[in-house]
Amino acid sequence: MPMASIPAEARERAQALRAQLARYGHAYYVLDDPLVPDAEYDRLFRELAALEAQWPALLTPDSPTQRVGGAPVPELAPVAHSVPMLSIRTETDDTAAGAVAFDARVRNALNLAADAPPLSYHAELKFDGLAVSLRYEHGQLVCAATRGDGQTGEDVTHNVRTIGQIPLRLHDENPPPLVEVRGEVYMRHDAFAALNERQARAGAKLFANPRNAAAGTLRQLDARIAAQRPLAFFAYGLGASDGFAVPDTQDALLAQFARWGFPVCSERTVAAGAQALAAFHEHVAAIRESLPFDIDGVVYKVNRLDVQARLGFVSREPRWAVAHKYPPQEALTEVLDIDVQVGRTGALTPVARLRPVAVGGVTITNATLHNQDEIDRKDIRVNDTVVVRRAGDVIPEVVRALPERRPAGAVKFDLLARYPVCPVCGSGVVRNADEAVARCSGGLFCAAQRKQAILHFAGRRAMDIEGLGEKLVEQLVDEDIVRSPADLYRLTLDELARCERMGERSAANLLAAIAASRTTTMARFLFALGIRNVGERTAKDLASHLQTVHALMNADVDALQRVPDVGPIVAQSIVDFFAEAHNRDVLAALLDAGIHWPAPPAPVAADAGADHPVRGQTFVLTGTLPTLSRDAARERIEAAGGKVSGSVSRKTRYVVAGEAAGSKLEKAQALGIEILDETALLALLAAGAESENHGSQGVAT
Ligand code: NAD
Repeated sequence: MPMASIPAEARERAQALRAQLARYGHAYYVLDDPLVPDAEYDRLFRELAALEAQWPALLTPDSPTQRVGGAPVPELAPVAHSVPMLSIRTETDDTAAGAVAFDARVRNALNLAADAPPLSYHAELKFDGLAVSLRYEHGQLVCAATRGDGQTGEDVTHNVRTIGQIPLRLHDENPPPLVEVRGEVYMRHDAFAALNERQARAGAKLFANPRNAAAGTLRQLDARIAAQRPLAFFAYGLGASDGFAVPDTQDALLAQFARWGFPVCSERTVAAGAQALAAFHEHVAAIRESLPFDIDGVVYKVNRLDVQARLGFVSREPRWAVAHKYPPQEALTEVLDIDVQVGRTGALTPVARLRPVAVGGVTITNATLHNQDEIDRKDIRVNDTVVVRRAGDVIPEVVRALPERRPAGAVKFDLLARYPVCPVCGSGVVRNADEAVARCSGGLFCAAQRKQAILHFAGRRAMDIEGLGEKLVEQLVDEDIVRSPADLYRLTLDELARCERMGERSAANLLAAIAASRTTTMARFLFALGIRNVGERTAKDLASHLQTVHALMNADVDALQRVPDVGPIVAQSIVDFFAEAHNRDVLAALLDAGIHWPAPPAPVAADAGADHPVRGQTFVLTGTLPTLSRDAARERIEAAGGKVSGSVSRKTRYVVAGEAAGSKLEKAQALGIEILDETALLALLAAGAESENHGSQGVAT
């Protein structure tokens, strides 16, 4: 077709595509830092190829469709490939049609009759790393080179020597004088995550994906850097060879590589005909997410090497192989807005609202942005064009923004400025200095946190309400019967019995458990409130040092820090909690509902109750007591100033023995230590009870 008849539009478009693809290719192949997802590159590549097919005169020798990879970087010594390293044609149709089309092309090229038996293929994974050619002379690794532009690669021998999986010497008594083993250097997911974590800690640039991390590592000038980053390898092909009795098939070739000591991926198969290839494609699609490394498809190769040779090559691709890809896991889209989701623990997670886009076979409209630090690090703004990623069942995430496509005036997102209060309950939003996460301080009040708060409140180590499980709490909250833990104490038998899977008997049992939980300890109660950073231990310390809820509520950060083991973060969390009026209301309602406890033991220095027979004594518990649980017995003893130890020694004053008591009881008998049963323990505890102050702690509001 003469040049003149090509529409100007097509010529300009082809030129623009060539320039754009060249820029993306350079970033990807040479800088190991892609500007766009592969799917975007492939889309433009296909558009250019289609234009060139329609107007062959548009084809230029430097078109990205005619070339392999990128130019080698000048810093690494060039290595000429005597057998070129090629690209592979891609089938993007992710149905069985991809395998059928390849099989038809091969049979056609071989002039096979329609009724000829199915061809034998070898199906492998398409590892998402980078190709290297390893040259062994007399069994010794002498050179390792990247693919480069296919004709000339880069010498990366120094780095390849650090890859433990690659033999420096072939496991062979009689190695051939020359053999080039080709395969993929890649990085496993765990190594990639660890590397990016280290990069983040060092304030260094993060890698976009394992492929880029592997490529960036392999092409380092300093082998010490490569040595710190574990790379892996799979062998899959043969380059030049001399004096090597080349096996007949790809399958046998890989078996030879394995005998020589190379890792060969076990996910491979010999497949007869297109249907068997399609079945492999389907099988791998199902296990893809569970592989510890990235693949972007499977590769089908004609199994017999002599048939491969007959088929030969077209420009940059062999005719005897094809890459059958899977739907991309990354795509480009636009951030329409950023808002937040309040989680069960009160964490405010920023979420990008996206222009709908298909990724990994589903349409994505939202993606998590994790937290403010992540947004800042990736500099993601409303109206940005971004790369979104969805792998398997993992929540879609925004990988990065494309600043070159940013509209003028796009402003940074500031979570605390945009959400000074929780969008669910209107309580203040706080972010502690040591945390990446901003949180709603609504605690017990916030609807988003209610279920979690109530479950925590009822937990065994908190108010210990037996029978109040997850399913029931969900129902009670969803039906708005329970809005805060205080509502538990207003539940009626009727309300409970109406709940799913709740007989009258279990409803009655639950009510009894709720009623019994009214008598507790101050430490349990404080722990049950779910104040951020206040665990069981801290709750105990707070109870014993501040003695009343009133004192705790009115303590400032300094006063709180005088409690042992309470630092500025814990102190601030407590102050934030009580600063929230909603939390104070729930707390007052709980105390109104009749929650009470014996006065906690005074701090060690105080001498109140010094004459209690339990005070200062060490107890050991063994066996099962008739009514008290281990935890309850321990608490009662500790509340009276005693200690509970795990093992019997001369310091043990009493051993409390229940049913099936074992060696501890024997040891106690041997040492002549006094042994108590539950009745005796309760009597001992009661003996000093007169000196204690019973009664609930009022809350002054
Ligand atoms: P390719 O990567 O699609 O296929 C050839 C390569 O496959 C070989 O060099 C080898 O490294 C690899 N491979 C993995 N497993 C193999 C196996 N079992 N047998 C044989 N080879 C195997 O082709 P290409 O020409 O290197 O690059 C095209 C790819 O690079 C596309 O996926 C494209 O999206 C991507 N790319 C992306 C950008 C971007 O900006 N994101 C730019 C350029 C290229």
